[in-house]
This record gives sequence, C-alpha cells and structure tokens, in this order.
Amino acid sequence: MRYLAVVLMLSVAACSQPPATRSGEVLLVGRAIIADAGEGLLRVGVTSARGARGAARALDPPATVDLRLSLFGRPPCLTRTDTASLLRQVTAGAGVTMVVAKADPAVPAMLAVLDLAIDGQPALGRPKPPWPNLRDSTAGDEPTVPILFPVLEDADWHDTWLKPLFGNLHTGQDLRGPRMTPLVACFGGVVWLEPKADPLAANSLVILGDAGWEALYAHLNNDTPGTTDNAASRDYAFAPGIENGARVVPGQVVGWMGDSGFATGPHLHFELRGPDKQVHTAAPSLRAARHLVEPARVAVWPALRPAPGQVRLDGIVKSVNVGARRLYLGVRYRNGVPLSGPLYVVIGLGDDAAIRIRGEGTMELSLAQLTPGSAVAVVADPGLVAPTAREIWLERQGLVVDETFRSTVDALARAGA
Ligand SMILES: [Zn+2]
Repeated sequence: MRYLAVVLMLSVAACSQPPATRSGEVLLVGRAIIADAGEGLLRVGVTSARGARGAARALDPPATVDLRLSLFGRPPCLTRTDTASLLRQVTAGAGVTMVVAKADPAVPAMLAVLDLAIDGQPALGRPKPPWPNLRDSTAGDEPTVPILFPVLEDADWHDTWLKPLFGNLHTGQDLRGPRMTPLVACFGGVVWLEPKADPLAANSLVILGDAGWEALYAHLNNDTPGTTDNAASRDYAFAPGIENGARVVPGQVVGWMGDSGFATGPHLHFELRGPDKQVHTAAPSLRAARHLVEPARVAVWPALRPAPGQVRLDGIVKSVNVGARRLYLGVRYRNGVPLSGPLYVVIGLGDDAAIRIRGEGTMELSLAQLTPGSAVAVVADPGLVAPTAREIWLERQGLVVDETFRSTVDALARAGA
C-alpha cells in the first residue's frame, strides 16, 4: 500500500514538472480566466514569471494576457489535440504554465508560446524530431490504422510490401497517379519535412500523428508543371504553410505527387510507422481508408465575409514587397473553399487597406510587419491584373501582451541569457 502511494506521488510529480526553460525564454505561471473554443482564445491571469536561471518574480495584481491558438499559425504546434478540443477542456481557474519567447521583433505585441501545460498536462509542445532513418526495421503483423486515403480521390496501387526492389525490400506502398495529384494528410498531426535528407526519397515529409502513428510521404513533385525538369521550386512539392512544426488536420492538402528521388514514375511512396517505432505495411489501412473527393474544409472565422464582388483569400504569406506595396500569397482557401492545387497570387494593397491581427481590435500593422510564413485572410477586389487588398487579417499563434508586460518578459529573458 505504501509502495503504491509512493508510485502515485512520483507520477503526479512527473506530470506537474514545469516545462524546461532555455536561455532567452521565460516561464509564466497563472490561472485560466476564460477559454473560448470558437475564438481560439485562452485568457490567463499570470501570477509569476521567471527567466531561465533567475528566481520567480511575483506579479501582484496578476497580469491578464490572451493566448491565441490558431490552427494555421506557425509553431508552437499542437501536439495532442486540436485547438477547439483543447480549449473546451479548460475550466476557469485551471493552472496554466507556459514558456514564452520573443516571436518576431516586427510584431512586438505577440510572444511565441513554446510550451503550454494546463493543470500539469502538456497541451502544446515543441515538435519532436523525425525518425533518423527512412528505412527502419520491419514487422510482420498487419494492423489496420484509421486513416484517410493519402491521395485525393484515388490512386492505382497493389500490395508491394517487402517485395524485392533493386536489391532492397520495399518497405512501403506505391500509390500511382498523375503528377501534381493532391496529397492529403491521412490523419491529424504535426509535419516534419525531410527534403533531400534521403536521396532515394527526395522531397518527403513525415506526419507525426496525434495517436502515435507516423506517416511518411516520399517522392513529392520536383518538376515544373508541364515538364520533367527536376527543377521546380518547393512550392510545387509542398502546399503553402507546410513546414517543420506545422499543424495539419485530416484531409488537408500537404503537397503534390511526383517522381523526385529514386522513382521510375510519378507516385506516392507511403509508409506507416507505429508507436513501436517499426514500419508496418500500410496495405490493410489503405484498403479500409476513406477516400476524399475534395480536401478538408476547416471553418476559420466564418464571420469575415467578403462584400458582393469581393473575394476572400486565406493563405500563407510567401514574401512582401514593401516599396511596391505588394505581397505574394500561397492560397489555401478561396471564399472558404479549399484549393486542391497550388495557387500563388500577387496581391496589391489599396491605399486605404487595413492590416490587423485577428481579434485584436483596431491595432494596425504595417506591411513590413507581415512576415513570410504568417497566416492571413485577405479581403480583396478581384482586379483585372491582380487582386487589390482592402483588409488583411493576420492569424498568429501567440501570447498577446501589453507594453508593460512585454518589458517584464524582455528583462527576464535577458537576465536568463
Ligand atoms: Zn515505394
């Protein structure tokens, strides 16, 4: 009995361990005030703050800060649950600890949240590194993993698990189709890219799935459309915003089929890796998988509707030309409809265009503050040559803080460096 009590105490202690803080980062401790799943908002009363090495500084009265959890923001990524289901579980008064750091000097009101724990349970985390090798040990059992078929609509395949292939055994399944066929996330998770890490697989990505399974997608496209030049930019391999640490939902377009690396024709080489760290045949899972005819549609901020004649484009900022007042956008949704192929659009800025952070009232940003990688919603006039933006709403994950609180965090981050 005493032994059991000790074990229980140990496990509680392990759960409530605060997240590790590194140089330049600050640990905040407080209590949840409001959690709004619809708005992706967690309001926290912060009662203490501490740098990587210093002692905790008590904040009295507590500082009220807003944590905005966007599905499409850059890291931190959600490793366990999606935003809405995470926030639905948070009750007022729950203990909140988070590790924060300066996100982007251009947007000082937003701090990056690197780790988040609620009542001692990890909720957000740094992405874990991918498996070191694409070729791993193999197992003979045949589990059926609940997945979506990773190729939009369908692909031509037959079971080639462990079939001899140029002196090796084939440790995946080859799903054949035309170049640039959209590939979709077979389950929700966090993406890790491995372009050229393995010359055999070339443009490849791993989805670190929420349920512990991982999926490898290899041979993504590297040809400029209409050619076989092996010279296309990564925009024709990976969908906008697909980068290390990006969160994907099941059915989201992650990239396009191709023949990069060691491939005799365009196909997706698909592998499933289990929580046991072994590669398993994907054949039973693929046979049981549901096929999508259009990519997943994620309702994001449905209240923002374009006026008649206008268009709403949701996507990821690729680059910004401040002098010419233009931005280059990798589009994911047009008027809320998911795109199944690559679309990159140059958008001009109207003279009276407003750039704001979603949910942060009237605080205006400058064009220079739209950094590449930012997720944005643009309401624009379609225009004959290029759309002209009227409103741009920045979708950022992070902690929204006022000037006073930011200087506290800055001081603690410096002291801990
Ligand atoms: Zn293969």
